[in-house]
Amino acid sequence: MKDFVSESETMGTDISICDLQKLIHNMYYDKDVARGAEATFLWFTEEVGELAAAIRNGSCEELQEEFADVLAWLVTLANIKDVDLTQALAQKYGSGCPGCGKLICQCPDSEKP
Ligand SMILES: [Zn+2]
Repeated sequence: MKDFVSESETMGTDISICDLQKLIHNMYYDKDVARGAEATFLWFTEEVGELAAAIRNGSCEELQEEFADVLAWLVTLANIKDVDLTQALAQKYGSGCPGCGKLICQCPDSEKP
């Protein structure tokens, strides 16, 4: 994966998916690879459960934290499986809805998404 070079120690407030993936990679990659995808997926699902609880009755602060955790663990899984999320997102959603191809989805309500 690409090396992460930053002008400052922190990402600031405007963080792209690409920046996040590099940041997570730099902070945790060796530990993440040692843990492996299966064990990491369990952590991811645990965080999804915590997000569910926060959606149900969490404070705004707890919601923010759980969304951040779920995204961070998803990015971690992408790092372990060597998936470039920026490329994956651009391929799947960069031209609009994967179902109908429109920028404002016009798929029938009976279909996903
Ligand atoms: Zn659509």
